[in-house]
Amino acid sequence: MTDLILRNATLPDGRKSIDIAISGGLITAVGPRLPLAAAQEIDAAGNLVTPPFVDAHFHMDATLSYGLPRVNQSGTLLEGIALWGELKPLLTQEALVQRAMQYCDWAVARGLLAVRSHVDICDDSLLAVEALLHVKKQVAPYLDLQLVAFPQDGILRSATAFANLKRAITMGVDVVGGIPHFERTMADGAESVRLLCEYAAEQGLRVDMHCDESDDPLSRHIETLAYHTHRLGMQGRVTGSHLTSMHSMDNYYVSKLLPLMHESGVAAIANPLINITLQGRHDSYPKRRGMTRVPEMLAAGIPVAFGQDCAMDPWYSLGSSDMLEVAHMGLHVAQMTGQDAMRACFKAVTETPAQILGLQGYGLEVGCNADMVLLDAQDAIEAIRLRAARLFVIRRGKIVSRTPAPHAQLDLPGRPVDVDFRLGQ
Ligand SMILES: [Zn+2]
Repeated sequence: MTDLILRNATLPDGRKSIDIAISGGLITAVGPRLPLAAAQEIDAAGNLVTPPFVDAHFHMDATLSYGLPRVNQSGTLLEGIALWGELKPLLTQEALVQRAMQYCDWAVARGLLAVRSHVDICDDSLLAVEALLHVKKQVAPYLDLQLVAFPQDGILRSATAFANLKRAITMGVDVVGGIPHFERTMADGAESVRLLCEYAAEQGLRVDMHCDESDDPLSRHIETLAYHTHRLGMQGRVTGSHLTSMHSMDNYYVSKLLPLMHESGVAAIANPLINITLQGRHDSYPKRRGMTRVPEMLAAGIPVAFGQDCAMDPWYSLGSSDMLEVAHMGLHVAQMTGQDAMRACFKAVTETPAQILGLQGYGLEVGCNADMVLLDAQDAIEAIRLRAARLFVIRRGKIVSRTPAPHAQLDLPGRPVDVDFRLGQ
């Protein structure tokens, strides 16, 4: 007998009235009105069922530390980095684990079942690496946590960072990180990209660098990253995160850069909530948005995901693990308001980041892991508009979270509203 069946679902590709059957933690059948009996049934009532949300860019070692040891007054990236430097000596493993576990609970409740988190490896004790490796094991039954060895202070600028990065990889961290724009010079930045890509190629690892996170149109480390990706045959395994300088670059230069990125198989991650608040800080008016060129990269065939990046940490006081909020902001900042563009924003927090992380068994096909979210929305666009409730979150065929639909559906056209406006008169 089938373990669980979802009836009458709409899928992200637009198919309607679809049933999804689940057994042994896998999807066993997908189709209209499946003639199967199941131990448990969920009526999707025509709502959207999607594979889980995936966050391709996060910092779980810093999350939920807002106000420790003080608040970022200017709200800038540089004060955030300075503040993180003040906080690091005060961190304890216990507190790191506790905050990360709390964030993972939030994530699961919002249908976010895979997160790529950077972990700062510049502290010689690798306290945060140990803590997040522990968390990764603890949350494995319900959330895939992929870790990136992130040299916050630069691998050439900090004397021990590259050795620490290699130790972190030996301990079990999955991905090689970098921060070329934070090295002392452009030349050092380019050299750091070469060293890190060669190391990752040797080890057969993926790469995800914080790259060109500035408004400087001449910060062009993404070109170097694409060059080495191509040279080392690492197509499909390398990602440039942020790429905000591309917003300010010369258009002619970008017309050459995008085909190079495509040829190299490099993916991109924009972090709309953070980019729109941290970039353009040196501008008066007009103020640049600072987010990278998302629609242009998509048109050039470059995979682009949207990340949360920060939640209640030295850089950002808000954030809640809600990838629909992230997609909502990305849609606005990139002015992606056409129907296809809005659907692309939904893909940027589901399918595309899953591809960037290299998740196995992701999707709603037969044979995929039975991981999915039933949303209180008719389709992907409505899901973004309403930041829709996650009615059911399912992991390996088991319901891991439920959220009731909001009581008053004031904002759903054509649906009954049960609010009495005469109350109190
Ligand atoms: Zn980041």
